[in-house]
Amino acid sequence: MQPSLEGVKIAVLGGDARERALAGELALSGAAVKVVGLPAGGGHEERITACKCLREAVDNVQAVVLPALGVDEKGHLHCPSAGRPLILTEELLLRFPAGIPVFVGIAGRLLTEMAGRCGIRLIELLKMDEVAILNSIPSAEGAIQMAMERLPVTIHGCSAFVLGFGRTGCTLARMLRAIGAKTRVVARNPAHHARIREMGLEPLSYRELPGLVKEAEVIFNTVPALVLTEDVLSRVPPSALIIDLASAPGGTDFKAAERLGITAVLAPGLPARVAPKTAGQILARTIAGLIVQERCGG
Ligand code: NAP
Repeated sequence: MQPSLEGVKIAVLGGDARERALAGELALSGAAVKVVGLPAGGGHEERITACKCLREAVDNVQAVVLPALGVDEKGHLHCPSAGRPLILTEELLLRFPAGIPVFVGIAGRLLTEMAGRCGIRLIELLKMDEVAILNSIPSAEGAIQMAMERLPVTIHGCSAFVLGFGRTGCTLARMLRAIGAKTRVVARNPAHHARIREMGLEPLSYRELPGLVKEAEVIFNTVPALVLTEDVLSRVPPSALIIDLASAPGGTDFKAAERLGITAVLAPGLPARVAPKTAGQILARTIAGLIVQERCGG
């Protein structure tokens, strides 16, 4: 059941189709939602007020939601369809009602520093397991969709490598197996190797990777560190496809891949691209739960 947000005012600043769906979900839970710079059409418009500026939106609210992608290095809020830049300044942060939760996916350096200086209570949703695990579903589906669009062979029967066995790697490996890919998972933790084997998949260590990667038709990286080095890439067949899901700059030496004639694609923000409604619902449910918990003093 949706937690009730009846009587709660929430500002959603900037965003894309994911935040549009999120605003609709919060409104469905009973919140009065003020938005700025969002695309139209997420549903429940009667409870959503479009504001002209950020200052107007944050007036007298009990929570603020920033785009999952936060702000860029100049403080611009992610808002591709706003038609104008929306900039989060310290002056604006100081106007937020004191002590309210400010939700974001991943904050990044600038926002973290600004929030620290302004005494803002940031909650980074994509760092929470309950969000990241659910978010891994549209991420994995999106990665497989990209592979299907680019590969000349079916995923069924193809030789797939998944690097990393965290929240995203685990979901992706399970989906690949279900589709029938011959799936190997590269991980460094012995307990993860046991789990990978239990799932009917083949675990590999990073030491074993260079010796076997010549068999890869598709490689999915989820490790946010350089694991597909020039040395490893030099053993990857040029016909193989690399899809790197890790946050920028990814875990692939993209320049080396290009020199070696291997197609390697960095694939950020897949949930918002392939399933914005689901991605928005995942965030909205957690936000609603946290707000209700705070209001109940839990
Ligand atoms: P996670 O649960 O923390 O998993 C990260 C994995 O990387 C773990 O298996 C971890 O191994 C491994 N790892 C980290 N540093 C490593 C290193 N130096 N060497 C070898 N392995 C290393 O993270 P996640 O939620 O799965 O997300 C993974 C990445 O994908 C993040 O960068 C995240 O931002 C990104 N992401 C992107 C999308 C998208 O749409 N493209 C969607 C979701 C997430 P241990 O467990 O042994 O530490």
